[in-house]
Amino acid sequence: MLGAMTTEPLTAEELLARYEAERNKRLRPDGNDQYIEAAGVFTDYLEDPHIEAPNREPIIDPVGGGVTFAFIGGGFAGLVVGARLAEAGHQVRIIEKGGDFGGTWYWNRYPGAQCDTAALIYLPLLEETGHMPTEKYTHGPEIYEHCQRIGRHFGLYDNAVFSTEVTDLTWDDDAKQWIIETNRGDRLRAKYLGAGTGPLHRPKLPGLDGIKDFKGHSFHTSRWDYAYTGGDPTGAVMDGLADKRVGIIGTGATAVQCVPHLAQSCGELFVFQRTPSSIDERNNHPIDADWFNALEPGWQEKWLLNFTTLQTGGFTDEDLVMDGWTDISQRIRDQLMINAETDGDFSPAAIQRAYHDSDNEKMAEIRGRVDTIIADDATAAALKPWYRQLCKRPCFHDHYLQAFNNPNVHLVDTEGKGVERITEAGLVANSDEYELDCIIYASGFEVGTSYTRRSGFDMTGRDGLRLSDYWAEGMLSLHGIHVAGFPNAFVVGPTQGANLISNVPHNLTEAAKTITAIIDHAEAKGATEVDVSADVEAAWVKRLEEGGRTFGGDPSCTPGYYNNEGHEAEPGSLRNRLGYPEGPVAYFDYISEWRSNGEFEGLRFG
Ligand code: NDP
Repeated sequence: MLGAMTTEPLTAEELLARYEAERNKRLRPDGNDQYIEAAGVFTDYLEDPHIEAPNREPIIDPVGGGVTFAFIGGGFAGLVVGARLAEAGHQVRIIEKGGDFGGTWYWNRYPGAQCDTAALIYLPLLEETGHMPTEKYTHGPEIYEHCQRIGRHFGLYDNAVFSTEVTDLTWDDDAKQWIIETNRGDRLRAKYLGAGTGPLHRPKLPGLDGIKDFKGHSFHTSRWDYAYTGGDPTGAVMDGLADKRVGIIGTGATAVQCVPHLAQSCGELFVFQRTPSSIDERNNHPIDADWFNALEPGWQEKWLLNFTTLQTGGFTDEDLVMDGWTDISQRIRDQLMINAETDGDFSPAAIQRAYHDSDNEKMAEIRGRVDTIIADDATAAALKPWYRQLCKRPCFHDHYLQAFNNPNVHLVDTEGKGVERITEAGLVANSDEYELDCIIYASGFEVGTSYTRRSGFDMTGRDGLRLSDYWAEGMLSLHGIHVAGFPNAFVVGPTQGANLISNVPHNLTEAAKTITAIIDHAEAKGATEVDVSADVEAAWVKRLEEGGRTFGGDPSCTPGYYNNEGHEAEPGSLRNRLGYPEGPVAYFDYISEWRSNGEFEGLRFG
């Protein structure tokens, strides 16, 4: 029998009161400090389970030697910047901690890993590499393969160094080069330096009492231990778990994708939940080759812009991507039009009301969907999310909720409190001890910590300036790319640029074009240095701060990494969440004009 139908509709006021009550259950005074770094005795959690780092001699580049452009990180950021630079004829060396290209798709090989944004816009350089994604939302192994394809297509393997972690970066003002030191004893040199280390790069663990005491097996989802579980990243049955009692901590986007696979394989699976995710339908399907081959050249740019426009509240004639992200925005626009037709009101308050009305409708559907899928009433009630949809990362899946109907799958809802502690035999939640053979940490990645802690290296720019000091009060940049006092260095990520969260690669492909235009210009001019002044940088940051467009940050939302665990962010840390005031589409227009008009306003070419 399916669960009881939803008791909604609630009035808007009742709904808000429920949201607040649920939020308060989850709020805790320690905020970000509840998590611990996967370091010290937990270093095993960071080791590469996929490859044994090959032995090699350190590379020592002579002064003035090395490459034109070195890039730290071989994920999408390094690949797209590297690709555009290589295409323009510049020499590129990518330095990557993993054993191959892929970044997040190298590390995250948990079963069921899949892109959450449609592959046609999520996978970069599809036209350039001639690849057709097999599905609307492709799975991890295909995305990882695509990273390798980009590497091969643009010759990026030639100079790459893998299984190598950067430990320090120093600007050599005499040689006008960056010196890059690594954990392999390398001392590499490059005229220009890029860093794309990913916003969600460093696994974090809950700082639970007893976490070191557990005698069973444990690992973080970003280092899936197939040697223990059996199976493989394609989702094959994990026969190593057939007789095991497995506990997974966390129900975020990662857990949502791997729980269905664990449900199929584990003897008993215990899912420890603190806050349920919102789970909308996925509706994946294969891509039709004839349809794909008929797409006009230039289609990917068009699709990217179409998605970003719709997802950020703009209007287009058609919705090319048609997914959960554009659906949210479409509803807000429709509601705004309905409200405006009723009372002619397009004011910011009316926009806010349209957002709330459509969000209430959407979340009621999402909670109703739980009832239509889950057989047990108590389980259904516990799986319902009570917050606005964009308070947390929205999830889309057609097998996650269904997994809780399996008799071997047990939801342990903790009413916002989380797991209490770990013991030698398992873990304790709601004062009950659960004996387990294996604990899987789906506990996410560091977000609120400093850039230098997350990246694992510091940078010393001109006159001994350390990036950790310069950014002690938050990020300072022009365009999210250039940092005053750090000549010839380029940061690649969404922050202080478009800050488009729904499709991060779009930020990166644009940054790749911008950086390539700058390097082309600098090299053509014979410049030795490209730098931004502190004044120009300050003006950019001020403009963004005054615009107040930040990612997440709403403390009234249920706590999580989107909103600094529900605590008011320090003013400095808000800088790490800023985006262009007029939104991503306006930023992409602005930066396209900026890099194309030949002026590179705000940069100094020395
Ligand atoms: P998250 O940070 O989203 O989730 C961590 C989970 O651990 C949360 O459910 C959290 O609960 C829970 N947790 C933490 N401490 C405890 C505790 N003591 N007891 C019980 N539960 C606890 O990490 P994910 O790895 O799931 O996802 C991180 C991000 O990575 C996503 O938001 C998304 O941006 C990206 N991602 C993208 C994917 C894609 O595009 N295909 C797929 C997977 C991830 P609570 O919610 O209460 O904090």
